[in-house]
Amino acid sequence: MARRVAIIGGGSSGLCAIKACLDEGLEPVCFERSGDIGGLWRFEEKPEEGRASIYRSVIINTSKEMMCFSDFPIPDDFPNYMHHSKIMEYFRMYARRFDLLRYIRFRTSVRRVAKCSDFTTTGRWEVETESEGKQESATFDAVLVCTGHHTDAHLPLHTFPGIEKFKGRYLHSRDYKEPQEFMDKRVVVIGIGNSGSDLAVEISQTAKQVLLSTRRGAWILNRVGQQGYPIDTIFTTRMKSFLQHLMTSSMASDYAEKQLNMRFDHANYGLKPNHRILDQHPTVNDDLPNRIISGRVRVKPNIKQFTETSAIFEDGTKEDIDAVVFATGYSFSFPFLEGYVKVVENQVSLYKYVFPVDLEKPTLAFIGYIQPLGAIMPISEMQCRWATRVFKGLFPPGLNKLPPRHIMEADIKYKREEMAKRYVTSRRHTIQVDYIPYMDELACQLGVKPNLPLLFLTDPKLALEVLLGPCTPYQYRLHGPGAWRGAREAILTQQQRIVQPLQTRHVEKHTSTMPLLLKLAGALAVFAVIFTYL
Ligand code: FAD
Ligand code: NAP
Repeated sequence: MARRVAIIGGGSSGLCAIKACLDEGLEPVCFERSGDIGGLWRFEEKPEEGRASIYRSVIINTSKEMMCFSDFPIPDDFPNYMHHSKIMEYFRMYARRFDLLRYIRFRTSVRRVAKCSDFTTTGRWEVETESEGKQESATFDAVLVCTGHHTDAHLPLHTFPGIEKFKGRYLHSRDYKEPQEFMDKRVVVIGIGNSGSDLAVEISQTAKQVLLSTRRGAWILNRVGQQGYPIDTIFTTRMKSFLQHLMTSSMASDYAEKQLNMRFDHANYGLKPNHRILDQHPTVNDDLPNRIISGRVRVKPNIKQFTETSAIFEDGTKEDIDAVVFATGYSFSFPFLEGYVKVVENQVSLYKYVFPVDLEKPTLAFIGYIQPLGAIMPISEMQCRWATRVFKGLFPPGLNKLPPRHIMEADIKYKREEMAKRYVTSRRHTIQVDYIPYMDELACQLGVKPNLPLLFLTDPKLALEVLLGPCTPYQYRLHGPGAWRGAREAILTQQQRIVQPLQTRHVEKHTSTMPLLLKLAGALAVFAVIFTYL
């Protein structure tokens, strides 16, 4: 049975990996190449080599109730969408609360991970590290890789003829920190993911003109949803997930696109893509339409060619420009793994995005290599809970080990084909997961998926919030391994924690019993459907 576990990386995935090891009675040793925790979320002007990098103003686009660790709610008074400084505050609180820092070796890079000579029988790994010029090697029973997938800039210069002649500055969004240097300049931002749209908005506050170039357009979601609730708390509910299964993808897209077009018509704003809303990783930006309607951002098609001083777009238009920001995404790889797991064009073969299929022993697991429609942190945490149980050889009733290789490969193939069918072809769509289905899938492996019918019989008030309210991570702590006694209370008070930080001035609120009655009637109807369906 695994005892000592090497954890590579002390970002949010590494932190919950340490905690999961401790919860399972394992001995974690976490290697972090920088001098502090937090990974990507620790802003620095000049981050260490090999650590992801963010801009000074970045605000997360997954809300606090949806992104927290499942047994440690984010304090009531923290804003729903946090600035990176607040996220770091939360991570530090988490590390303090569970006494995680003592297990981290800072300024220590993992250089090489290789199978021990007796791997076939022991599943052990040799981990070589380097700290301030000193090299060491140690043996571990298992390894959790938590190095993140937003570190290496994807800079596709070869697809932009003439860029080598361009006399202005060009950079990747990874190296962007703040807008000052673009004041009064004409800037083109390439890519309409969350980086491209955030940067176009910010730079356009002081630049002479921002051009936002996109090769296929995007549907733009708001952080602030109906009645001011965080959009992810509105969409990520079990009820909506269930209803979505009853609809075709086209019906669901029709509904969502209609809602978005009611705010602003994506065709009028030059943003409308040819693909449907569910076919692309969402771009969330409340400010972009304001910058477009005020002319500070102009949406343009893909760039065909650069000249020394301008960009020529695919529609034949030419614009003088001073700078280019490539917000063209990221690549990831595992150079220290010596080819045990290969990544090709951001594609990696891992069973449920966690376990390689071809090892004699399941003692190597990958954490956080998913791109969810939702937050990464609770998913990383769930993956860690599962992986540590597998390391110990513990499975829920009915399972006693990972399935044979051909079954795991079939699962990987199926997921890859489904992704290819649903998403437009792009290197950003290689590790996509839907939050509730994927969390439930892992929860089944662990034996912690909430049992809704049983909950309705034993605790209807809680069941109602689990079904209709946001599917918060606490749901996966109600029973089974790692159950947390505070989970029920956390679920029943989640709506309060959403509203509380907004109530900075006292206002009398008109209350009506109607919404509750409607909720009850709706829930009864759905419950009837679920029972029939089961
Ligand atoms: P990271 O945070 O990247 O941490 C990896 C750590 O591993 C680093 O500390 C690094 O120093 C260390 N490391 C790497 N290699 C080694 C080595 N060989 N040896 C030792 N240490 C090593 N996700 C969301 O859920 N919601 C969001 O709204 C969101 N917004 C984002 C905004 C931006 C601009 C970007 C780029 C990403 C965003 N993400 C978001 C995704 C983000 O990757 C995750 O939130 C999260 O940071 C992943 O944590 P991690 O620990 O897996 O990786
Ligand atoms: P991304 O999601 O991978 O988006 C990359 C964009 O660049 C896409 O529009 C892509 O277009 C385009 N692109 C890539 N290669 C191209 C090429 N050769 N020519 C033209 N266009 C090209 O990267 P990202 O925006 O940096 O986001 C990375 C992650 O960080 C995501 O998880 C994102 O949600 C997160 N993020 C969050 C925030 C926030 O919370 N505020 C801010 C920034 C980023 P195609 O779609 O056509 O491939």
